[in-house]
Amino acid sequence: LLSIETLTKRFGGVVALDRLSLTIMAGEIHALIGPSGCGKSTALRLIAGFEQAESGAITMNGRRIDGLKPEARDIGMVFQDYALFPHLTVAENIAFGLHRLDRAAREAAVRDHLALMRLQGLEGRRPDQLSGGQQQRVALARSLAARPRLLLLDEPFSNLDASLRETARREMRDVLRASGMTALFVTHDREEALSLSDRVTVLKAGRVEQTDRPERVYQRPASAFVAGFLGRTN
Ligand code: ATP
Ligand code: MG
Repeated sequence: LLSIETLTKRFGGVVALDRLSLTIMAGEIHALIGPSGCGKSTALRLIAGFEQAESGAITMNGRRIDGLKPEARDIGMVFQDYALFPHLTVAENIAFGLHRLDRAAREAAVRDHLALMRLQGLEGRRPDQLSGGQQQRVALARSLAARPRLLLLDEPFSNLDASLRETARREMRDVLRASGMTALFVTHDREEALSLSDRVTVLKAGRVEQTDRPERVYQRPASAFVAGFLGRTN
């Protein structure tokens, strides 16, 4: 579905991404992990179009998208802090990206996604009247309602406490599976990456160390770095 080839991105003297190459297959849930500062968020921001790379290419279904504006890429993004519109209600937040639909279709999409993310009864509230878990579900509902071809999630559970996180993870996986959505998600939680994903990519200093199925990455780490990062010392 998505192919990234030798993307390089610098911030001043810092090389955030160093010829990063990565393929996301249609329908897969792909986890992106690695130490703080290795370039995970930068990679998502480049794919979404919020930043431009110095070199390299991003193609979606064979078409270059790296010259397109974020809105034209058919890619959704859920941020760590959810980035909900504070002055809009839950329903208005979910409807936000749906201006191309007519009113009836938009209302139906909002209703469906309220139900899907268990938000019925909360549609008239504003984000500051919601719990963290509810805000997280609104953010996911808003992204899913726009039916993007690819969903990017940057640490979607990091603001939730441990008890909520487990439920939220399972919910996200079930919803993504049920909708057949392709997703690339960043996490610093290795267990989350291994348990939620079809494939995992481990980054080190802006480069890919390994991409494989979770059990393969765990059992056959490609390098001492990967083994160490996953807490495997043998
Ligand atoms: P974390 O796990 O802490 O979120 P990350 O893997 O998401 O880390 P990035 O945010 O992608 O890391 O940052 C990669 C590198 O680029 C870091 O060295 C960071 O300091 C640098 N960087 C990122 N954004 C900027 C920016 N806007 N200006 C300058 N440097 C930046
Ligand atoms: Mg980050």
